[in-house]
Amino acid sequence: MAVARSVGKSVGARPMWIGGKRVVGSKDRVVDVLDPSTEEVIARVPDATPKEVGAAVAAARAAFPAWAATTPQERGRVLFRIAEKVRAEAAILAETESRNSGKPIVEAEFDINDVATCFEYYGGLATKVTGHVNPVPDNALSLSLKEPVGVAAQIIPWNYPLLMAAWKLAPALAAGCTCVLKPAEQTPLTALMLADWLPGLGVPDGVVNIITGFGETTGAALVNHPEVDKIAFTGSAAVGKIILRAAAEQIKRVTLELGGKSPNIFFADADFEAAIDGALFGVFINQGEVCSAGSRVLVQRKIYKHFVEAMTEKAKRIKLGPPLARATKMGPLVSKEQYDRVLGYQAIGKKEAKVAIGGGKATGMKKGYYVEPTIFYDVPNSARIAREEIFGPVASVIPFDDEKDAIAIANDTPYGLAAAVWSRDIYKALRMVKALRCGIVWVNHMQPTYVEAPWGGYKQSGFGRELGPWGIEEYLETKQVHINLNEAPIGWY
Ligand code: NDP
Repeated sequence: MAVARSVGKSVGARPMWIGGKRVVGSKDRVVDVLDPSTEEVIARVPDATPKEVGAAVAAARAAFPAWAATTPQERGRVLFRIAEKVRAEAAILAETESRNSGKPIVEAEFDINDVATCFEYYGGLATKVTGHVNPVPDNALSLSLKEPVGVAAQIIPWNYPLLMAAWKLAPALAAGCTCVLKPAEQTPLTALMLADWLPGLGVPDGVVNIITGFGETTGAALVNHPEVDKIAFTGSAAVGKIILRAAAEQIKRVTLELGGKSPNIFFADADFEAAIDGALFGVFINQGEVCSAGSRVLVQRKIYKHFVEAMTEKAKRIKLGPPLARATKMGPLVSKEQYDRVLGYQAIGKKEAKVAIGGGKATGMKKGYYVEPTIFYDVPNSARIAREEIFGPVASVIPFDDEKDAIAIANDTPYGLAAAVWSRDIYKALRMVKALRCGIVWVNHMQPTYVEAPWGGYKQSGFGRELGPWGIEEYLETKQVHINLNEAPIGWY
């Protein structure tokens, strides 16, 4: 949790977007937004008061009937225009995202492309939402109709800021919902840039509202607001539990995309070179700040020693550097809080297992929240570094004997977001796919994510699915309509 400080004149203050108006907020309630590679403040955003949260929800509520009544074709066209604008502004969006979150610019460019693709996908899907004719055993026409849920409160984390915003906004808008989005306190800038463009793209005032501030105050006020119909949350399991409790009070619809401790499982018959690459990519992409990070690297004993050596050797090539440098493969962590958290887990790991590489803060960087890519090996599955989500570039390598052993270790976690299996034996790979208790399983790859395919977890990784047709379903109610075709009294009495 960052500390609110008084606003200075030197740094750009970015207003919120409420009811089609820029809202600067109160000058003594501000959130500093940092560049984590320099630790300097690059912008300031308002820490929304409960009154401002209320205004955003009221704007979304007021805009709902008209937006829900637009044709799906009109909503689709709005989403296509947003996508086009994102593509046109991709360079500045990627640069802003990279500076603000610390992610390498090359990765930020992929993210922004995915943002546009997400709006395009749901622009197309808006006109494919259909109801159903139910085969009831009577002389009647029974229909199920799809209708938007209403006002959606959307709360997102800092690791993929604009992409998470797109995953939330695009399906909601396509469904006919109106939205109040709260980005993470650390990374609100690209969502606020998007807000600036919305009126020019034909998004009516109040349909999208972007509020900034701290989770415990602004976020909590939003989820507790009685005029919110649905909460879509991506973040930690700890906050997910708070949100679920709050939602229970008013029986609000909730979807939770939470954390993970995903196993990346390597059998001895896997393509060795591809496996080493896959192990590193699985856990070190985006500095390891990935909900589906393959942070438990399970390796069959027959190749274990060679695997740890090869992984360690290749990890030496990971280039740490300024996020905006194109050669950088790993930037700083997003914040001091996250930096301290990861350093803490590195210290714990040194007591629980053996260090193959890394294990501390990065040397040679004058400023910034840089940590070393770290590989621990001989990690017992009971170790904290094997059980708790670190959300940083820390791999825990765990040996296993056979398929049964791999399944037992892989599933022995409260989480169930993702897993990957590497093997040339398709029968074995498919048996593993069936046995793994999680929402996403990759075979001979880890991390590719497509808007066309469902995303979400089992167990404490949450519930509900984002992306694809599953994503829009979460913003739709189903209404049953019964039309009696008998032109006669019921005849009961
Ligand atoms: P947090 O759970 O700390 O925060 C997520 C969002 O919730 C932030 O916007 C935060 O606000 C807000 N928030 C915090 N407390 C409350 C509250 N009491 N009421 C309402 N909102 C609140 O997660 P992080 O931002 O640290 O993100 C990392 C986590 O997100 C990891 O656990 C990761 O696995 C998960 N994640 C899951 C994904 C998935 O698809 N399953 C994808 C990406 C991340 P603020 O930051 O402003 O305080």
